[in-house]
Amino acid sequence: MKSLDLAGQGDFVDHRAIDLLKPDELLYLRLSSLRLMSDDLLSFVARAASLSSRVVLSIPLEEIDDVLLVQKILNVGVYGFALRMTHRPERWLLNQGLGDIYSGDRELIDRYSYLRSTFPLDRFLTVEFQVGEDTRVLGPSIMGVHQAGASWIVLNPLSEPSNERFRQFREVIEYLKIRGPNRLNVYFPFWRKDTAEWDLKTQNTFSCLEIVHIDISNRCSHSCVFCGLYGAEAIDDVKKRHGGTLPEGLKNLMKMEMNPEKCLGIIQSLPWSVRMIQFGGMGDPLMHESAVEIIAAARRRGFAVEVLSNMEYLSDDDIGLLHRLGSINSYEFHFIANVSAGTPELYVKTRPRQNEKTFEKVVRNLSLFRDLREQAGGIGVLITIMCVVNRLNCLGLLDIVKLAKEIGALQVWFKPMEIHGDMHRPYVPGDELMSAMARAYAEAIAYADECGVKVVQRDVCDEIIRKYSGDSVNV
Ligand code: SF4
Repeated sequence: MKSLDLAGQGDFVDHRAIDLLKPDELLYLRLSSLRLMSDDLLSFVARAASLSSRVVLSIPLEEIDDVLLVQKILNVGVYGFALRMTHRPERWLLNQGLGDIYSGDRELIDRYSYLRSTFPLDRFLTVEFQVGEDTRVLGPSIMGVHQAGASWIVLNPLSEPSNERFRQFREVIEYLKIRGPNRLNVYFPFWRKDTAEWDLKTQNTFSCLEIVHIDISNRCSHSCVFCGLYGAEAIDDVKKRHGGTLPEGLKNLMKMEMNPEKCLGIIQSLPWSVRMIQFGGMGDPLMHESAVEIIAAARRRGFAVEVLSNMEYLSDDDIGLLHRLGSINSYEFHFIANVSAGTPELYVKTRPRQNEKTFEKVVRNLSLFRDLREQAGGIGVLITIMCVVNRLNCLGLLDIVKLAKEIGALQVWFKPMEIHGDMHRPYVPGDELMSAMARAYAEAIAYADECGVKVVQRDVCDEIIRKYSGDSVNV
């Protein structure tokens, strides 16, 4: 989601601000006036609308009556408008006889209802409430506008944050929670720096979701020795306890995947406050046959995306499609590649059911992302090479960094192995390996520094080096 506040700041607009706008990403553009829009600003809006289907212009309420102008703006592909309305509880006080405190600011609600009913059905229309000191009927007013068709609204407090203001708005949010509106999002101003503070201190659960994790597949064809579900020992261990076969419940669990329509529906319904979606699962998310479509839908909405995968299953076409949804900001679209070995020999040792061809396919896929990114001048998908450090690979960490350098990864992540049961204990590096492992860490990190590859959780690595190599290694 991007927002630009041009209201009261003239018409100057930096056209680069929308260079990487995604096809379904919200651009919330606050204009001082539609009527006084310069040609430059109009061409900016038209370009934004050609890039995204979700360009919303915040304009003064009265300008919506200029039918020809509004139609002209809609014709360039603008999705809709947020009408800036001043919330005036005094109107409710004057008209009390017409209703009660639960009816809200009827004049405002009626105005919106009328406009919504006459506005094109395929276009968006909402309200940006300008809220002064009195918030007594703000909750019912929001409910009224929502019931008349607004799926989300913006609350713009016309004052600086203060404890008293937070208290007032907390009461409004509390009122909405009690009413339990279906699928309403309430946003504090996107364009202000204090939005997160407003969300937090008013306990605004109508929008403040920031990171979402979606498990889309439990399936995986690999056999990592450290895997709690697909590791050979993990499977043998279950079979041993169930008369030599896998219980039906576990077999079903291993096949479980999210229904693609449901997943796409969730992605479409997430609030604009979401910054990132992480895709994972007990298996590999890319085993899902709609994985690319699902990931692409998240990117099209402009969310940052992080995917944890073994990176085997993508075709060249998939990689090309995903690359085009990349970004200049390397953290916006990010694959964590669980490779856990820097050579084919070690790869096969840590995944007994895979062969060297699998390793070659993974390296080829990662290299293709690198090539496309280089051809696009650095715009594309970021790769982190993850290594789950265990007894078999703990002396091969330098090779991991070499692989990371080869495929143009930004980062390596040496992740200590988690133990899911007794069957994993043989893979934990023993005491006799500790000092050699610490040296391998030190060597790998020194090389990463030399070739500009970042190290994730470097403090954990430094602690391992410090703890197991005494003073002999300088970190
Ligand atoms: S790739 Fe992931 S899910 Fe598959 S076996 Fe390895 S750790 Fe388990």
